Amino acid sequence: MTHTRSTPASQKANLPVPSGAHLDERSRRAREEPMSVTSFGGDVYEVETESGNRYLANVVAGTCTCPDHVFREARCKHLRRVAIEITEGRVPPPGHVAVPCSVCSESVFVPTGSDEPHLCPRHRFQRGDVARDRETGGLVLVVATSDRRADEVRVPSHDCTVAEYATNRDYPADDPVVSAVYPAVRVTDDGPEPGSLRVYTFPVSRLERPDV
Ligand SMILES: [Zn+2]
Ligand SMILES: [Zn+2]
Repeated sequence: MTHTRSTPASQKANLPVPSGAHLDERSRRAREEPMSVTSFGGDVYEVETESGNRYLANVVAGTCTCPDHVFREARCKHLRRVAIEITEGRVPPPGHVAVPCSVCSESVFVPTGSDEPHLCPRHRFQRGDVARDRETGGLVLVVATSDRRADEVRVPSHDCTVAEYATNRDYPADDPVVSAVYPAVRVTDDGPEPGSLRVYTFPVSRLERPDV
């Protein structure tokens, strides 16, 4: 999947000036003047000012099409504003686009043109992560991730897909799958016993990170 569209602009707004900050004139105006910033997925951002003027700021090259930069070679308020919005997570960093998480639709920044499934931090798992199974409330250990969908991967023991498996039917069939084991120790009459190391495969939204 390639994302070539521009991502939505940040809301045209002023940004709060951190209390106690001593900002020079351009830095203060970069925050206090209502502006919106639009990312195009590369190094160039469009900044629309309160009066409706639009300038293109290349935050990597440090150039802007505004008179302040063109005639005075200043690090203008537009360049500063883009840098602020990137560091505050309001717009994607250079070379990234904002796309919805495939599971929960929360906006997530991914490299432009990335074919990976787009997952927010809550739904992005790596081998070795601990996750909570939302069906049982139990903790599982992630052993593998995949970009294959729950309706493509079969459960060998049940002759159905992961999406069709009874306890997975409430989760989206197009979720990428994650495989995990229940490592919890079970206490039996004979004392503690290690949990099963049988690998289960889940639609990713059935799992959540306990810490995010
Ligand atoms: Zn400028
Ligand atoms: Zn998500």
